[in-house]
Amino acid sequence: MSRTARRRRPAGQSPAPDTPRVLIVGGGFAAFHCARELERLLDPDEAQVTLASPNDYMLYSPLLPHVAAGTLNPTDIAVPLRRTLHRTLRAPCSIIGVDLERKVCVAHPVIGKDHLVPWDRLALCPGSVTRTFSIPGLIDHGRGMKTLAEARGLRDHVLAQLELGNTVSDPAERASHCTFVVVGAGYAGAETAALLQSFTRRALSRFINLRPHDLHWMLVDVAKSVLPELGEELGATALGMLHKQGIDVRLGVSVEKVEQTVVHLSDGDSPGCRTLVWTAGVTASPLLATLGLETGRSGRLVVTPTLQTPEHPDVFAAGDAAAVPDLTQEPGAITPPTAQHAQRQGVTLARNIAHSLRGEPCEDYRHHNLGLVVDLGGTRSVAKPLGLNLHGLPAQVVSRGYHLSALPSMRARSKAAASWVTHAALGEDYVRVGDDAGTGTLGELRDEARYLSADEARALADELTDSPG
Ligand SMILES: Cc1cc2nc3c(=O)[nH]c(=O)nc-3n(C[C@H](O)[C@H](O)[C@H](O)COP(=O)(O)OP(=O)(O)OC[C@H]3O[C@@H](n4cnc5c(N)ncnc54)[C@H](O)[C@@H]3O)c2cc1C
Repeated sequence: MSRTARRRRPAGQSPAPDTPRVLIVGGGFAAFHCARELERLLDPDEAQVTLASPNDYMLYSPLLPHVAAGTLNPTDIAVPLRRTLHRTLRAPCSIIGVDLERKVCVAHPVIGKDHLVPWDRLALCPGSVTRTFSIPGLIDHGRGMKTLAEARGLRDHVLAQLELGNTVSDPAERASHCTFVVVGAGYAGAETAALLQSFTRRALSRFINLRPHDLHWMLVDVAKSVLPELGEELGATALGMLHKQGIDVRLGVSVEKVEQTVVHLSDGDSPGCRTLVWTAGVTASPLLATLGLETGRSGRLVVTPTLQTPEHPDVFAAGDAAAVPDLTQEPGAITPPTAQHAQRQGVTLARNIAHSLRGEPCEDYRHHNLGLVVDLGGTRSVAKPLGLNLHGLPAQVVSRGYHLSALPSMRARSKAAASWVTHAALGEDYVRVGDDAGTGTLGELRDEARYLSADEARALADELTDSPG
């Protein structure tokens, strides 16, 4: 495939009416890398590319726990799309319905009325949402770790709990303010518990009535091991690090009920607690279920190895939203929902859209897992790059180095590195920056967009086509 140098269409000049329209849904790893690769591959006249997502940044979510723990600023991990994409039209909206026959999407803009966006090639990359189960009280009192608002809100909420614990004299009440439960011992949960525990330990010196024994951090998982992605040996090393740090790890235990000031666990314990962070899994964006196409485990859209839907070869999907066959594993395996895969699938997606526009055969997606890094703070890290088991300082160097190299611009890398250095050298202020530390539960921050079924999308497309504007 020929590689065309990046060129912009002259300002104000519209594309020819018959220029094919590519619509990318999402603004995360898969969508961003797809758009960036399309800018590299396609001549401006070959296609008109639109990226539809409610946010104008690509969130580097693996570093969300660092934002919650105050070692990075929110903007360090929000990579501006307008600064990094030069030819792609940004549409600030959520896609809430798709009419596959008419080839239009229903867009719900951040401000204004719903409208239609036509496409000739559709790239679905809306990612995933926190998976909650029907546990009483979870939606009302639990907090997630999936969005910038959740990470920022959690930091403020934890600081508020320390402030409140510092002012009460009743030991039980103080304990409930200073007890923090994180559910899910995968990388998101383990990093959140470890980094925030360190954050609260450091903060103690600013709270005259609190002592180290007042803090109680718990990491709860129904599985029998932590970080199963790392394998048995490294998982056991990580468990030892968490124990040594003072985190109360409860394995083989589930959450039965959540109340405002107490959490009920399946091991019979019901600690007084006002902070429950839920990181126990994700499920594909609800948009996928509306299409009337086949979905697989966790609601991910079934696609071929070329990332096309079997029924509609003009409809592609990638990242957490897609069940992509993993050709490096046993037949039937699908790629795990990780940034590593989403980023590379985004690039393959762009190549295949370009192939499809040019009438060329599409390529299969194939990527060997490069491993995993888990940053538990300080030198408490574990990493498995290319199958090599590392822990301590070497793992910390690999972990920070990996994240810095994976951030998609030199500017983003410099900002994150500078924040880590500034934080290590100058410490932090422990101030709440939000307006209301009480907000930010899973229920409050739930996606408000109302998704349309395939029939509803078709009916609305008819209506909006008949009466434009
Ligand atoms: C706390 C945490 C830690 C993690 N750590 C790691 C790690 O260490 N290593 C690793 O490989 N992976 C990690 N992951 C997983 C990784 O972040 C995801 O696998 C990756 O972000 C998936 O990329 P994606 O492009 O599919 O979705 P996302 O990056 O989630 O992007 C989805 C995008 O779609 C947009 N969107 C959603 N719905 C719509 C809609 N209806 N219309 C338009 N736009 C929409 C969203 O606003 C967002 O911009 C972590 C995740 C979390 C939450």
